[in-house]
Amino acid sequence: MSKRVSYFYHPDVGSFHYGPGHPMKPHRLSVTQSLVLNYGLYKKMQVYRPYKASAHDMCRFHSDDYIEFLQRVSPQNIQTFTKCLSQFNVGDDCPVFDGLFDFCSMYTGASLEGAIKLNHNACDIAINWSGGLHHAKKFEASGFCYVNDIVIAILELLKFHPRVLYIDIDIHHGDGVQEAFYLTDRVMTVSFHKYGNYFFPGTGDMYEIGSDSGRYYSVNIPLREGIDDTNYLLVFKPVIQYVMDYYRPTAIVLQCGADSLGNDRLGCFNLTTRGHGDCVKFVKEFNIPLLVLGGGGYTVRNVARCWAYETAQLLDEQISNELPYNEYFEFFAPDFSLHPEVQTRTENANSRTYLEAIVRHAYENLRMIQHAPSVQMQDIPSDAFSLESLEELDPDIRLHDSEEDRRIEANNEFYDDDKDQDHDGEPLPLKIEC
Ligand SMILES: [Zn+2]
Repeated sequence: MSKRVSYFYHPDVGSFHYGPGHPMKPHRLSVTQSLVLNYGLYKKMQVYRPYKASAHDMCRFHSDDYIEFLQRVSPQNIQTFTKCLSQFNVGDDCPVFDGLFDFCSMYTGASLEGAIKLNHNACDIAINWSGGLHHAKKFEASGFCYVNDIVIAILELLKFHPRVLYIDIDIHHGDGVQEAFYLTDRVMTVSFHKYGNYFFPGTGDMYEIGSDSGRYYSVNIPLREGIDDTNYLLVFKPVIQYVMDYYRPTAIVLQCGADSLGNDRLGCFNLTTRGHGDCVKFVKEFNIPLLVLGGGGYTVRNVARCWAYETAQLLDEQISNELPYNEYFEFFAPDFSLHPEVQTRTENANSRTYLEAIVRHAYENLRMIQHAPSVQMQDIPSDAFSLESLEELDPDIRLHDSEEDRRIEANNEFYDDDKDQDHDGEPLPLKIEC
């Protein structure tokens, strides 16, 4: 049966720039969106202009000082924050750019709204390709990530769900999410990533398994460079199957970083869009409420191909290998196809013996979980914000202005609005001292 899919896209999110030469290009989100629209996929799902997260929402995980810094700093006043830059790890990898806080609000708000919709069974699958910024830490930015929308969304899911599974197929270790939930059995984090030779962020070996109540609830699958679809799926499917059997999550968050694709500007794996999409499909088939997020991905045309294809996979829609005409058509030369041939740049350095050993190791650890942990849920905390205040479920009811600003009906009416109606309404205390 096809799923009820909610899709979150803010029309401004692709317009931010990290700076000249920076590999992270939010523009990839506009290109993805163009494929999603031109393939007609918007007709099969509810498309929303997402809520923008407030500083208060971000402080559910991050420190007040750090978020206040993100709110205040700009390229114009950066000199007055010199000490803060090193304290909060802001600089080269994580630059200060125009609209930085707004960018964080957009991608974080979309993940949070997805979590709230899933909590209320308003959809089966929520998609936010602008989210998935898995490296951000409580007190600092890291690896192009400032606010950890994943942690904030999972905290929201935990209001309703006893056990949340986090799966990460970005080429980099999902360190920020793992760290946030390292001591708890309420969230199991499972990350598949390149490990070794100082590859960023340097964590994620197979012996990082969690601590205290969280022991055995962090699963790490360290891979060598050059892994292809066959070998990746040989590991991914059994590990995820074991995780599902032993942990029995009630909600899943899937980070779909596209830097694990072949020919990524920063990555060194050889996955194709089909192989990457097979992971998404495999997770979807468990029929558990699913929040799907983006992440890394630095060869723009391939990121767009991948996430458009995965949107189709999540909708159970077949889409043509021939790309529809779209405003970025020239990006896809010379083949103009969804699944171009992947030129192998890196030899597969993962032997079968090695892969079998890491699967066995993961299995041995999962067997230590005798029973899926249960939680006494008493008072359910209130939502981060009320769904009713955002939109009403009957699309035939005419929405008044403030709602229209936030909701995009699935009719290709993508528009921008000069009136920014998002007010945090919180006076900013002056308390940064650095
Ligand atoms: Zn990455």
